[in-house]
Amino acid sequence: MIDCERFLRCLSDYLDGELDEDIRAEFEVHIRTCSSARAMIHTMEQTIVLHRTARGRALPTGVKSRLREALEKCMDCSE
Ligand SMILES: [Zn+2]
Repeated sequence: MIDCERFLRCLSDYLDGELDEDIRAEFEVHIRTCSSARAMIHTMEQTIVLHRTARGRALPTGVKSRLREALEKCMDCSE
């Protein structure tokens, strides 16, 4: 089963459509069962939309720390 930490690590691959099919299925289960994960997805999607016109895929530092905060909340709900 995917956990919140792995979820965060694979999140950008997921949004890029680069995850293997079986991992993606576990991802989607996690998204359904974890409200913090859904919030992370939402943040990432907004960020990607905002930056898609810019070159490269590196995330701005502010986004990384927001995701880190979200991950901490996410891990609280994982058990
Ligand atoms: Zn979670």
